[in-house]
Amino acid sequence: MTNDIRVRFAPSPTGYLHLGSLRTALFNYLFAKHNNGKFILRIEDTDQSRKVEGAVENLINILNDMGLKYDEGPIAGGEYGPYFQSERLDIYKKYCDELLANGYAYYAFETAQELDEMRKIQQMQGKQTMYNRRARNLTENEINEKIASGVPYVIRLKVPLNEEIKFNDLIRGNVKIETNMIDDQVLLKSDGFPTYHLANVIDDHLMKITHIIRGEEWLTSVPKHIILYNAFGWQVPDMAHVPLILNPDKSKLSKRQGDVATEDYLKKGYLKEALVNFMALLGWNPGEGEKREIFSLKELVNLFTIEKVNSAGAVFNTEKLNWMNAEYIKQMDTAKLAEIVIPYMNTAGIDTSDKDKYNRVIFAIKNYINTLQEAPEHSEIYYSNVNLSEEQKDILKSETSKQVLNLLNIKTAALFEITADNFKPVLNEIQKETGIKGKNLFMPIRLALTSKEHGPELGTIAYVLGKEEVLNRLNILN
Ligand code: GLU
Repeated sequence: MTNDIRVRFAPSPTGYLHLGSLRTALFNYLFAKHNNGKFILRIEDTDQSRKVEGAVENLINILNDMGLKYDEGPIAGGEYGPYFQSERLDIYKKYCDELLANGYAYYAFETAQELDEMRKIQQMQGKQTMYNRRARNLTENEINEKIASGVPYVIRLKVPLNEEIKFNDLIRGNVKIETNMIDDQVLLKSDGFPTYHLANVIDDHLMKITHIIRGEEWLTSVPKHIILYNAFGWQVPDMAHVPLILNPDKSKLSKRQGDVATEDYLKKGYLKEALVNFMALLGWNPGEGEKREIFSLKELVNLFTIEKVNSAGAVFNTEKLNWMNAEYIKQMDTAKLAEIVIPYMNTAGIDTSDKDKYNRVIFAIKNYINTLQEAPEHSEIYYSNVNLSEEQKDILKSETSKQVLNLLNIKTAALFEITADNFKPVLNEIQKETGIKGKNLFMPIRLALTSKEHGPELGTIAYVLGKEEVLNRLNILN
């Protein structure tokens, strides 16, 4: 059964999906699905100067890819379209005219330079910088003359003075603000395009949005929006402003301190399921009694409620993301993992064409990598040639080393094949038969097989290399 809950994700397409936007989209999706409601995608593309080619396609692909399928929006369509604001200009114009006619908005003709001077004077006087509302006093004749002679104008919101705007945010609680502090916001720009505020309110109403869930940075816009809703006589949707995502130093998550684009994380080999899981826990938790941290999208849908969203900023902890991603990698089907890691291997110059060996490599590294991008460096040991330093060669020339390696050669040759667990017992036998143990036993074998002093377990190394390659590497020494 569906009910009337309708939420929207309303990005301005910038060419990439900021992690903060991903989380906003995710919370909207979870809220909608938890309540059998609708998740709507609306493209807020009225700022033509910020237009980026291909940005919308990219956005849609990535949302779909992350599993956040929208019910209405571009391409998918729906009853309340168009879902691109740039295709709704006549709607905004019509409603703006209504505001003008009813005295809730007015024409203003100041040039950019005049506004700049106004701002400077206010700064010098230590006042809040805002439009001084002077065009409110223009007579109808003055307005008509200016329009007739082609003076550019904007339409501004006539903020009601000496009032108090109050609202209850589902996350932040009660908020109130004196209207005298609110700017007479531009609603329609001189090029005829609406500002965010006008378009956003009109669309949320016409698209029957019941709950607005978005980033905290929009909280300060709410009073202006409420004035608009009141002017139109429309019901104000419920609001929930989610906390900022912070860097570990508590500054706002920004490009300067690392990647912020979802695409970058996917490229590095963070799995989309892990990323969704991690982002869901940024500012939300399932509450007492639920100690788990690993949740599928479906489980998140079942558990998600706005009441459990925190109001404090959420720190983006890369170590936790790495841990979580590693957990998802460990749980992944090895064959599937092998497949998605191929591009990373090939980029690093690793030839994966020997499928049997490659699958063994993946089996061996699966529990050790945090991201897919880390796969090549963990695999290198199985693909690169043994290249011993003089010092290492000397170690292999010692009497005990020779004894160990000869015996190992014989015993390996006698195995039908090396499996994931039959090599270790061979080492135990050698220890028993020769009395050589510890470093004297293991180091020559490790060096002979990898020319490295450290690395994975010898049993794993031998299994991945396979019988033939192990014998080759042992024989090179002779
Ligand atoms: N277009 C705004 C943005 O880019 C939407 C804010 C809102 O959800 O109201 O985030």
